[in-house]
Amino acid sequence: MATLPAPVTMDKLVSLCKRRGFVFQSSEIYGGFNGVWDHGPLGAELRNNIKRAWWEDYVYKRTDIVGLDSAILANPAVWRASGHLENFTDPLVECRNCHNRFRADQIDLTRNCTVCGKFDWTDIKQFNTMFKTFVGPVEEDASVAYLRPETCQAIFVNFRLVQGAMRKKLPFGIAQIGKAFRNEITTGNFIFRLRELEQMELEYFVRPDQADAAFEELLGINVEWLVNHGVRRSKLDLYEHPDGARAHYSRRTVDIMYDFPFGKSELQGVANRGDFDLTQHAKASGRDLDYFDDETKEKVTPFVIEPSIGVDRASLVFMLEAYYEEADKEGVRTVMRFHPRLAPVKAAVLPLVKKDPALVALSHEVFASLRGDMLVLYDESGAVGRRYRRQDEIGTPFCITVDSQTLEDRTVTIRERDTMEQVRFSMDGIRDEIERRLRLPWLRPD
Ligand code: ATP
Repeated sequence: MATLPAPVTMDKLVSLCKRRGFVFQSSEIYGGFNGVWDHGPLGAELRNNIKRAWWEDYVYKRTDIVGLDSAILANPAVWRASGHLENFTDPLVECRNCHNRFRADQIDLTRNCTVCGKFDWTDIKQFNTMFKTFVGPVEEDASVAYLRPETCQAIFVNFRLVQGAMRKKLPFGIAQIGKAFRNEITTGNFIFRLRELEQMELEYFVRPDQADAAFEELLGINVEWLVNHGVRRSKLDLYEHPDGARAHYSRRTVDIMYDFPFGKSELQGVANRGDFDLTQHAKASGRDLDYFDDETKEKVTPFVIEPSIGVDRASLVFMLEAYYEEADKEGVRTVMRFHPRLAPVKAAVLPLVKKDPALVALSHEVFASLRGDMLVLYDESGAVGRRYRRQDEIGTPFCITVDSQTLEDRTVTIRERDTMEQVRFSMDGIRDEIERRLRLPWLRPD
């Protein structure tokens, strides 16, 4: 079967996402809201599966990492100490003619404005991208608070509480998944650059002399995690931030870059934050945030290695990597070849005919036996070939067809998404079989 030469484009993906319920514009009936997107039924599943896979691999499978779920709001002193009030800024430039604003490091200021064509730039000024709000009934300076622009500060602030409660010894990590907010100057490229986003962050605390080795190890683990979940290695690249161009807290930063249809851009950042955050919070709060080693009886201010990835950006990459078209006798077969662990719908039950009550009853029996801890769909409308295509398009790994033979021997067919191979299997063992297949190692078909 010939593969169509056309690569996935953002337009194709955006259209599939809307049509099949992955991603919708926020407030779509009111014309949308810049930099904010809603996740439809299948997008919600995909995101939950990404987050669950990450949590299982980093928190449950390891013994040295524990979880945290901190609040979005915090005492503004946190942002003063962390340097965000002063430094969480992007360079802003405005076109005096059309008044459009741009991130100065993302456009070429030696050329004319891309919107109006004039050459009349203002000076660059620093724009703080934290969202401000007011806490309590009075809107005055004293009640200003910020929506967190990254999830990790609460990890530093809670460092001693977590360490003490869980009796962790260095090296150990604290992982967190949660919403973050950034008032980005320009948004765009679908869900790539958002104003409301979700992050999966790990802060891994080590003795300072182990920081370089831990950095290398975590960078490798994070690249492999992406590859193991279906991202082609050839689409990834590493970018080392040069001296003088790093964030204020960073001793070393490497971005894991992905080759998006709109160009190579950051998918994940890995940073060595040194002891910057713990030191700053200890100074500002007056509390001791050092780690005390019972054996050597010495105090250590740990260094921290931080891999940080956006759930939204990861889901965009997993969707781009999954999108696949091939020619078939009906024209084009579009398949979302998700890793089965990430696929939103795990199985679909398809009765071959919907008019035979005995067959329909068996189909419902199969459907009921599969439901519970995974999303399973039931589809009885249209020709079975069309129904397979519908499932392929949302990446369902297994279709289970109930036919006349089921009435005789209680067997069904299991059709596999990537190979389209069908095998018969007893309907009574179907749940165990699907669960077994979902746990098998999966390799991209290409
Ligand atoms: P940039 O320089 O592109 O603004 P950043 O270097 O500030 O990004 P980090 O602070 O390193 O980004 O954020 C860690 C991760 O969080 C990113 O790798 C990305 O996956 C995700 N992320 C950050 N900002 C956004 C955003 N506005 N929309 C979606 N995801 C984001």
